[in-house]
Amino acid sequence: MKRILVVEDEVKLAALEADYLKSEGFEPHCIANGLEVVPWVRENKPDLILLDLMLPGRDGLDICRDVRTSTDSRIRDVPIIMVTARVEEIDRLVGLDLGADDYVCKPFSARELVARVKAILRRGRMPIASALAMDEERHAATLDGKALDLTPVEFRLLAALASTPGRVFSREKLLERLYEDHRVVTDRTVDAHVKNLRRKLEEVRPGQDLVRSIYGVGYALEL
Ligand code: CA
Repeated sequence: MKRILVVEDEVKLAALEADYLKSEGFEPHCIANGLEVVPWVRENKPDLILLDLMLPGRDGLDICRDVRTSTDSRIRDVPIIMVTARVEEIDRLVGLDLGADDYVCKPFSARELVARVKAILRRGRMPIASALAMDEERHAATLDGKALDLTPVEFRLLAALASTPGRVFSREKLLERLYEDHRVVTDRTVDAHVKNLRRKLEEVRPGQDLVRSIYGVGYALEL
């Protein structure tokens, strides 16, 4: 049974999340105070953490940093879904590069939340899945053993997204990685390159959309 830590100071919401997780076969544990999180994680090593941003004691940002900088890999690599009350906050969080695996905005449905939990547990925190191989020196990439015919910009875009599969990258963040010369380009440029990259990935995996777009936030690679 997968153990999910629910960090949430709204008691009713925490209970709702826990009930739904239980009904889906998970073993939830709720914590309302930020100070209690890291010691509990050390002791119990959960399979995933749902982490509210605003908490009494210690906020979600600090907790996320603590977890990701832990010397114990079983703690450091635990998947984290950050939960925030404002959609604008997500863009800032993505920019901070906290190493969260996903972001959910309140209000969310319990069903949606559990779907995200399942997706991340299924995928795991494996760095670039072996399905995707990238050779930085030769600027060559293969998916499922098939060569991808990418332009240099598309290669950099894929490399950026693949640095943390599942993580949402803002367009701004992606632009930084695409053009080293900081030329003036618009967000729409990123969208255009994503569109081409998607098409090329889909040639290898027909019917699958490996680049997930999160409206108003950015893109994530789902392998
Ligand atoms: Ca809160």
